[in-house]
Amino acid sequence: MSVIAFAKNWNGKFKNSTYELVSYTKKIADQLNTKLIVVSIGEVNNEDLKSLGKYGAERLISVNDPQMNILTSRVYSQVISEIAEKEGANIIVLSDNNSGKAIAPRISVKMKAGMVAAVQELPVSLDPFIVKKRVFSGKAFAHVQIDSPVKVLTIAKNCFGVLENQVDCLIEEFEPEVSKDLYKIQVLEEEEQKNKVILSDADIVVSAGRGMRSPDNWGVVEELAEVLGAGTACSRPVSDEGWRGHEEHVGQTGKVIAPNLYFAAGISGAIQHVAGISRSKCIVAINIDPEAPIFGVADYGIIGDVMEVLPKLTEAIRNSKS
Ligand SMILES: Cc1cc2nc3c(=O)[nH]c(=O)nc-3n(C[C@H](O)[C@H](O)[C@H](O)COP(=O)(O)OP(=O)(O)OC[C@H]3O[C@@H](n4cnc5c(N)ncnc54)[C@H](O)[C@@H]3O)c2cc1C
Repeated sequence: MSVIAFAKNWNGKFKNSTYELVSYTKKIADQLNTKLIVVSIGEVNNEDLKSLGKYGAERLISVNDPQMNILTSRVYSQVISEIAEKEGANIIVLSDNNSGKAIAPRISVKMKAGMVAAVQELPVSLDPFIVKKRVFSGKAFAHVQIDSPVKVLTIAKNCFGVLENQVDCLIEEFEPEVSKDLYKIQVLEEEEQKNKVILSDADIVVSAGRGMRSPDNWGVVEELAEVLGAGTACSRPVSDEGWRGHEEHVGQTGKVIAPNLYFAAGISGAIQHVAGISRSKCIVAINIDPEAPIFGVADYGIIGDVMEVLPKLTEAIRNSKS
């Protein structure tokens, strides 16, 4: 019996979400009195691999194959399943990001494992195995029981936090048997968008809604985002109107994000919007209407006109930086 965590890397580097995943999975392994095995796929240098020991990765299986640097879900799910079978793993945990969402269901099918996506916290019970997740756009929680011998979970960002738990990280190389057929569809090259923070990865997000009144007013949103090194987002009507691209739309029908800091400028706080941002650690709302529902979910509220407040915030942050 063992617990496996898949540590995704981005160009050979791990992110906070990987450290959170390792911290979370280590805790489950401890509760089950078993070993945690972390799996890394693609080229990552030893120092970066060893850094996972800080969060409890006592054993790390590295598939250091340059051909696997770019994520191919068919290949990755095959590799993780192969390692899981070899190690007799009964719990496999991934982050609930784009790669986790693509790989986890394939592992679940391969291993005939029950799967729960976007788990919110540590299992409520280990025997029977019950986990908690949000349902109905965050309006309720469901407790889901997995009865299959092997269980696959993806964990929601910021559901547990990063917990230091220094152990010696033993690194093992592994060469899986991957058939060429699995590379039928292969990403040959990835081009990163320059000068733009990817919304799903952003620690800080500056988001704006119809209260901005016109797409011509977005300069103040972008300036604040720039000084903070933040991603930009918007409410649905804003993207429906074509003021901003649909890739920025957050909410029930858009992206679900969980940054550490979320600015909601001129956003009313409709339930469908809040469904996509409620896992943010800190929400700052700027709205002219003191009765706006967004203040009900905000940690800090500024009552005022976005066109006055946003430039002042930008200036204050610029000054404090310099
Ligand atoms: C099935 C369904 C799915 C949906 N999915 C989503 C979704 O995924 N995401 C989403 O966002 N919405 C979604 N919606 C729409 C949602 O119900 C709201 O209509 C929408 O979120 C409102 O967007 P808004 O807050 O930008 O605009 P509004 O509701 O028009 O609010 C604008 C806010 O700006 C404030 N304001 C105005 N002027 C200023 C100013 N000068 N300075 C400061 N504040 C100002 C106002 O007081 C107001 O609170 C969905 C709706 C349905 C029915």
